[in-house]
Amino acid sequence: MLKGKRALVTGSTSGIGLAVARALAGAGAEVILNGLGEADAIAALCEELGASYNGANLMNPAEIAAMMEAVGPVDILVNNAGMQHVAPIEDFPPEKWDAILALNLSAAFHTTRLAVPGMKAKGWGRIIATASAHSLTASPFKSAYVAAKHAMAGFTKTIALELATHGITANCISPGYVWTPLVENQIPDTMAARGMTRDEVMNDVLLAKQPTKQFIQPEDVAALALFLCGDAARGITGANYSIDGGWTAE
Ligand code: NAD
Repeated sequence: MLKGKRALVTGSTSGIGLAVARALAGAGAEVILNGLGEADAIAALCEELGASYNGANLMNPAEIAAMMEAVGPVDILVNNAGMQHVAPIEDFPPEKWDAILALNLSAAFHTTRLAVPGMKAKGWGRIIATASAHSLTASPFKSAYVAAKHAMAGFTKTIALELATHGITANCISPGYVWTPLVENQIPDTMAARGMTRDEVMNDVLLAKQPTKQFIQPEDVAALALFLCGDAARGITGANYSIDGGWTAE
């Protein structure tokens, strides 16, 4: 289905991005991985997926520009890299605000602005953002993350309109809680911010949001991304697809 297509998936050494990379590679795309991690583990992923790797730190626009230059034209761009920090607004470290805005929002601006000319030249492109249920709704203690994800939804709608006549679609996928390191790592700070035990955070904060009472699986998010890359999705652009166990239906 994606033979001959080149796909860059940011933040694909772990979690959702890795699942998306696996799905795109499985459909025949040539995949470029990006993200942090141990060299040996990344080499093993490249081997598994027949992928290449660029380790740019996406908080740094100069490194993003160098990555896009090194990678060359891509047909599919998945803006997925992201991080979280949980703290009350009065204690929220300004450097965490800056880091979250840089990685979860500005990085996508830079990769997209540099990928679009190549897509326009081919008259075909797919731009997908891993946004979040937090692109549509808020939770306390996540001011930077919610601000960045709401902004990603607006950014995606804007570029969808700009690129609509060029065969290029731009869409958000908005998962609820997916069991990945990003979720696991926020449990201690959430325990501190809310004065809760680990079990209370799991059941009364995380799964409490999802009527299904189940975490979303990374592979299910990847299947939706793969669909959006296909020809049947050529008319879907500027959309924001929830995959959140019913969270945002409430
Ligand atoms: P994860 O921590 O498993 O993966 C994050 C990826 O980003 C990793 O590959 C990591 O190496 C990479 N990364 C981190 N800092 C980076 C940097 N400075 N430069 C380059 N890469 C960097 O997390 P995940 O849950 O798979 O999150 C992926 C995306 O999905 C994020 O945008 C996140 O906000 C979003 N999301 C996650 C959930 C969830 O519940 N897990 C829900 C909704 C949205």
